[in-house]
Amino acid sequence: MKLKTMAIVALLAAGATAATAQSNYDAKFKAYPTYSGEDLELTVDSSGTHWRLWSPEAQEAVVNIYNEGRGGEPIETLNMEYHKENGTWTASVPQQLYGKFYTFKIKFDGKWLNETPGVWAKAVGVNGKRAAIIDFSQTNPEGWEADKGPQVDNFTDVIVYEMHHRDLSMHPSSGINNKGKFLALTEPGTTTPSGQKTGIDHLKELGITHVHILPSYDYNSVDETNLEANVYNWGYDPQNYNAPEGSYSTNPENPATRISEMKQMVKALHDAGIGVIMDVVYNHTAENDGSNFSLTAPGYYYRHREDGSYSDASGCGNETASDLQQMQDYIVNSVKYWADEYHIDGFRFDLMAIHDTETMNRVAKELKEVNPSIFVYGEGWTAGDSPLAVERRALKENVSKMENVAVFSDDIRDAVKGHYTDAADRGFATGKPGLEETVKIGIVAATAHPQVDYSKGNNSKFAYASSPEMIVNYVSCHDDLCLTDKLRHSMKGEPEENQLAAAKLAQTIVFTSQGTPFMFAGEEVFRDKKGVHNSYNQPDSINAIDWENKAKYRDQFDYYKGLTALRKAHPAFRMTNAEDIAANLVFDEIDITETTNLISYSLKNHANGDSWEEIKVVLNGASESQSVEIPQGEWKIVAFDGKINPDQGLGTSNGGKMTLAPYSALILAKE
Ligand code: CA
Repeated sequence: MKLKTMAIVALLAAGATAATAQSNYDAKFKAYPTYSGEDLELTVDSSGTHWRLWSPEAQEAVVNIYNEGRGGEPIETLNMEYHKENGTWTASVPQQLYGKFYTFKIKFDGKWLNETPGVWAKAVGVNGKRAAIIDFSQTNPEGWEADKGPQVDNFTDVIVYEMHHRDLSMHPSSGINNKGKFLALTEPGTTTPSGQKTGIDHLKELGITHVHILPSYDYNSVDETNLEANVYNWGYDPQNYNAPEGSYSTNPENPATRISEMKQMVKALHDAGIGVIMDVVYNHTAENDGSNFSLTAPGYYYRHREDGSYSDASGCGNETASDLQQMQDYIVNSVKYWADEYHIDGFRFDLMAIHDTETMNRVAKELKEVNPSIFVYGEGWTAGDSPLAVERRALKENVSKMENVAVFSDDIRDAVKGHYTDAADRGFATGKPGLEETVKIGIVAATAHPQVDYSKGNNSKFAYASSPEMIVNYVSCHDDLCLTDKLRHSMKGEPEENQLAAAKLAQTIVFTSQGTPFMFAGEEVFRDKKGVHNSYNQPDSINAIDWENKAKYRDQFDYYKGLTALRKAHPAFRMTNAEDIAANLVFDEIDITETTNLISYSLKNHANGDSWEEIKVVLNGASESQSVEIPQGEWKIVAFDGKINPDQGLGTSNGGKMTLAPYSALILAKE
């Protein structure tokens, strides 16, 4: 989802509390009775099939039962009975209607609205227009009961790999059979024609701990009845929040197939020791009046302006209202459902600041009760203004008000590679001066540090994180120019070897910084998107990773692999609290009147139980070689001049003057 608005920072700085007052229109909804029982919408048990729809203002409600997922006429229409104490409508039949489909229809303001599968459809027909009644126990792969994701003790131990299903597998060079499908990640032994590992074997070889899959719930933009058209979309246009997307299954007509195949994907990754994080987009829906929210409880789930129109902090035409009880319950119960039914290991909240901090705290707390290893993070900003008061928003600047919730650091992102709004803008890693302090904010995971001057920060002016577990560091993601394209554009005219060097330096900063590192799929093989920045609806020819790059840029891949290995072997890069960082991470004084684009620091005192007594990290983002004076001692050279070897090392040094090549990092370790 497009990253926008830094205006919020200004709002906060100005002490603003709310952009606009909540409308009277919303006040009406606060008075609705609520209901969040597990039997919402559909239950099948020994006594039959039961429906319970929450719709406090409907005048009548019916259930239509169908034989098919699309087409045909209802085989039966049941009138529902209203229960005013909780705002729900119920109907039942004594049979277990497995294999059938259904929709709800409500009469509102004197007229019947369109049919809807409801907001809690867990299985759906093709294109998600009807809910399906299936036996979920039949969707579990063999061994599912024992299936478990990796245990995570501290969220700074996680290494996130953000991927789209089609990016990873569509290119012919992937050697994968189930291209663009959940099943792509269940195929072991796939290679490029030249023998490089691809797919799940590639992920294992790279050494990441978690994949973050772009939206995989049922979204709106791809016609599941015409998959031959091979339409691509990121999927930030939610339709059914609690069922998987049909186009990623081998048969979207069969409601059980997408469920079973997504579970097979999760299990294959778990068997490989890799966790699965889902990108969730509860902040808006693809449609306004036509959404399942609007067709079940018109108006309720959204925020409004004072004139009653939809407010639009998402930039997509509407924004949901997590500050209303039924919506808050919905978000919390929906993620818990994915964690429980699909064994999902983490959730990345799109435009998280549209939600309130109270909702996010509930999300994290209740997920922790399902599985303490679940990692929750999100975009700590909105894409437009919201009626929700600034101090209630789950903003980056409010992250310390949340527990077990992390935010993306746009500080490190924009400072390292250059600003996302200007393709030509360079960053610290590509020779632009004056960004050292903002990079340092990233290095200390936005925690208070005696040697970091937040007043010089570009994006943030205060230490907003009280713990490194609150920060996700990255230099690129699906949004905007990917790293390769950004470097090609901003370093136009320089040889490719400089761009490759800058890519290594940029990711070295991400992987050695405190907080949780996050990378965009394919950057380890210098993937590009042919210069297209907002590729959400672009064809596979733009988005698919060409895996022949892995042989071509094998040196790049090996370096990234070295970065994951370094981080996993050395807890000094993964400190768990701000006090340890302030005590053990010491920046070397560098005379900025003499030099630029140079940062040097040490991780001291066997930080966080590290086997190395001291680690020195020197970052040269200048286009020129620069020398530093390394203190005397027995140093192992871990990374130097575009090479890395955390295990054996690249040689030794007794200190003294060392010269770093342009756009390169030096990492030294003292046993
Ligand atoms: Ca869909």
